[in-house]
This record gives sequence, C-alpha cells and structure tokens, in this order.
Amino acid sequence: MTSVTSTRGRRASLLRRLLPLARRAMFGTLSETYRTCGRAGCHCQVGPKHGPHLYVSFRGPAGTTAGYYVPQALRSRVRSGVAAWQALQTQLRELAELNRRQLWAARPPRPKAGRPPRRADGPTRVRPA
Ligand SMILES: [Zn+2]
Repeated sequence: MTSVTSTRGRRASLLRRLLPLARRAMFGTLSETYRTCGRAGCHCQVGPKHGPHLYVSFRGPAGTTAGYYVPQALRSRVRSGVAAWQALQTQLRELAELNRRQLWAARPPRPKAGRPPRRADGPTRVRPA
C-alpha cells in the first residue's frame, strides 16, 4: 500500500511535469503518406511516388475525421508534440487516481450515532451509492 506522503510526492512530481508537456502537446495520430502530383511526365505517375509526407489525423468535434500535412521543417516538433499528448494522457490518469486516493484518505470519519450495531460475524453489506 502507498503511504499518504509518497502519494503527495508523486502528485507533486506529476503536476510539475504536466505543464511542460502541455506546452508542446499536439493532438492527432501520425501517419506517413506517398502522393502523386499533377505535373505531366513526372516520375510519380509511373514510378515511386513523392514522400513520405507526415500527416496528422484526428476526430473533429462533429465526429468527422480531419487532418493536415506537416511541413518538412516542423516534422520533429510535431512528432514530439504528439508524443507529449500521449504522455499527458498517461500522467493525467495516474494523477486522477492519486486525487481519488487523497480524497479518500482525507474524508471525515463516519458518524456513529443512529447507526445499527455492526454484526461481528456477518457479511459486510455494500450500500448503493
Ligand atoms: Zn510527381
């Protein structure tokens, strides 16, 4: 079991790492495509196509797939940004679980007055939320 102190330390560490990741995060899935151009007589119409071109696709608000081609000069930064997005998802999930643990640990004790005495040998009943 994780102690409250180490949970606190882990939360602080996660929170520190979120901002730098968020600053460069980019949303989407990377793929590389090869294309033909419209120039008459270009090798791409019979031979190897142009590329690879880095493409970012993502699901837009209306549920339709959208995307864009990445300029050559920005390829590594976009790759890094998409990796940062993935890392953010993982770290936010962990942070959410630590938030839940912290909340559970800090909850006030349940009041005893008015409750029926607990049976020593019976099964624990789970009350619906
Ligand atoms: Zn061509």
